[in-house]
Amino acid sequence: ETIAAQIAAGEVVERPASVAKELVENALDAGARRIVVEVRGGGLREIRVQDDGCGISAEEVELAFARHATSKLHSADDLWAIRTLGFRGEALPSIASVAQVICVTRVADAELGVELRIAGGEVQSRLPCGCPAGTTITVRNLFYNTPVRREYLRSEATETGAISAIVQQYALAYPEVSFSLVIDGRLAFQTTGDGDLRAVVVELYGLAVGRALLPVQAEVGDGELWVAVNGLISPPDLTRSSRSYLSFFANRRALQPRGALAAVVENAYHTMLMKGRFPIAIIDLRVHPAAIDVNVHPTKSEVKFRYPAHVHSVLGQAI
Ligand code: ADP
Ligand code: MG
Repeated sequence: ETIAAQIAAGEVVERPASVAKELVENALDAGARRIVVEVRGGGLREIRVQDDGCGISAEEVELAFARHATSKLHSADDLWAIRTLGFRGEALPSIASVAQVICVTRVADAELGVELRIAGGEVQSRLPCGCPAGTTITVRNLFYNTPVRREYLRSEATETGAISAIVQQYALAYPEVSFSLVIDGRLAFQTTGDGDLRAVVVELYGLAVGRALLPVQAEVGDGELWVAVNGLISPPDLTRSSRSYLSFFANRRALQPRGALAAVVENAYHTMLMKGRFPIAIIDLRVHPAAIDVNVHPTKSEVKFRYPAHVHSVLGQAI
């Protein structure tokens, strides 16, 4: 079972940033309003994600670390209308099979919380504890028992940068949630969670960029053809030499800033752009839940639209 979990872990947990992504998604699924991410040693030494979400009951905390135990899907039909970020029940067991994990959690109506310790997939202890409502998951010494995986990682700075990029993505996707990122004990950024996307952009990219961005907005169609676009995009004189300032979200899921959607944005911009320059853009797409398939890859950073040409044309026109 441990080996099966380690193999699954290879798909879900490629690097420290994948751990951060899964833990942040769980916090969001738990309805958190405030999420604090702390990273040490490029995320290999420690990644801690603290949330004020619904918590996990003492009876269910071990189950949360069992393979394919998800509280989020109730029938096969739900796969076609996924509203949560997680649904496979693979992340926590995968992470726990390749690290030392401490989960401290309490549901609001329980007097005491619980602290569960797992290392290399084995439960070490489960004790009652006093703690705030919500969940804190600490992941230490990632890949300590899979040295080959550890070998393949890039520098600490690269891994920290990848984690920072993930947390920034979610801060942009969820302006109504407060995100803090602490790197080696220093606060890197903190968003207020007051719902203002432009304020998030100011915190992450600076005041000048935040002020300059223009709104992008459209809402078209009904039922499965409903598409809503919301976001901010830079004017043509404000471009960047890399795509790392392009953020796309589909039904609140962060997507890779490449592929068809990036092409739509860049084409809409084309006449004004010099080669190798990219707009700064944060694009939030919403479609009917039945018109999107997120079940493409375990790390879920790709989606399939049921009507891609329609989505692309609404986005292109909005820009
Ligand atoms: P999935 O997100 O696909 O359901 P995970 O392995 O990521 O699978 O998590 C397993 C389960 O543990 C979740 O379905 C949820 O019930 C619970 N869980 C994980 N993280 C949290 C959290 N931060 N707050 C509340 N519940 C959580
Ligand atoms: Mg999850």
